[in-house]
Amino acid sequence: MDNSLYIGVDLGGTNIKAGAVSDTGRIIHEIETATEADQGPPHVLDRIAGAVRDLSASIPGDAEIGGVGIGIPGQIDVKHGLCHFAPNMKGWDELSVTPALEEKLGCPVILDNDANVAALGEYAYGAGQGSLHMLMVTLGTGVGGGLVLDGRIFRGVRDLAGEFGHMSVDYNGFVCSCGRKGCIEEYASIRGIVRMVREKLDAGAESSLRSVEKLTPREIYHDAVNGDALAIEAFERAGDYLGIAIADVANLLNIERVVVGGGVANAGDFILNAARKRVAQDALPVAAKSVEIVRAELGNSAGLVGAAYLARTAAS
Ligand SMILES: [Zn+2]
Repeated sequence: MDNSLYIGVDLGGTNIKAGAVSDTGRIIHEIETATEADQGPPHVLDRIAGAVRDLSASIPGDAEIGGVGIGIPGQIDVKHGLCHFAPNMKGWDELSVTPALEEKLGCPVILDNDANVAALGEYAYGAGQGSLHMLMVTLGTGVGGGLVLDGRIFRGVRDLAGEFGHMSVDYNGFVCSCGRKGCIEEYASIRGIVRMVREKLDAGAESSLRSVEKLTPREIYHDAVNGDALAIEAFERAGDYLGIAIADVANLLNIERVVVGGGVANAGDFILNAARKRVAQDALPVAAKSVEIVRAELGNSAGLVGAAYLARTAAS
C-alpha cells in the first residue's frame, strides 16, 4: 500500500494554497500563504517549495512526499512542466517550473492548467464521481472548461483542449477577448450576465435591480429569488446560451455529465434548468438523453484536491 503523501497546490496570482489530500479526497491539512508574484518567478518557486515543506512537516508520522500536483491559471506544457503564459503572474511566460521544484523538493512535480485540475477534482471526488466522460464548466469572471474522457484529462496535442469558454454561440455576437465573435464567455460569465441586465435597464425595463448600486451575480440572484422578472431572465438567458454550447459538446463527445461550478453557478437551477431545456431541444436525442447537467460540489477546493489526484495518478 502506498502511504506516501500527495500534495495539491493551487497557485494563484495572490495566494498559494497547498494541501495534503488522502486517497479518498479528504484534505488532511491545508496551508495558505501569499504568492508575492511581483517579486518574480524564483521567489515564487521558493515560496511554493517552502509551503510544501511546511505542510509535510506539520503532518505527524514519517510519510514521504510521493508527488506534488500544481494547478495554475495559464497555458501549460504538461510534459515539460513549462508555463507558456499566465496572465496574473509577472515573468511566467515560457517559464520552466517543474525541474526547479523537483530539485528543491526531491519528488515528482506535475503542473497543469487550473481548469483541468478542478475538472479532475470534481471527477475524482465531487459531482463527477461515477462518470466516465465529463465536462467541467466554470462560470466566473470568464468561462473555463476541463474535459475528462475515459477517466483522464483530455489535453489535446498542445495541452490546450477544454477551452469551452471560447465556443461560439452567436457568430454575430459580442467580440470576445480572444477576438472571436459570440464566445460563450461573453454570455454566461459575470460580465455577460451583468451586461445583459444593464442593457435591459438602460432600455427602460421594470426591475427591482434598478435600485441596486453595483450589479453583481449575488445581487441579481437575490432579486431572482424574490421573483424579479429581469433577474430571472438574465440567468435563464445565460443558461440558454450555456445549453447551446453544451449541446455541441454532447453531440461531439456523447459525454455523460456536465459539472457546472464557479460563482455564477450559485444561481443554480435558474441557469441549469434553462441549460437542460436547451440541451433537450438542441442535442441529438441520444446525446441529450445521455447527459446530465449538475452543480459542482467541491467549491474552491476542487483545484487543490484535483492537483493532488493528478500527482497521485501520475505516480501509479
Ligand atoms: Zn473567445
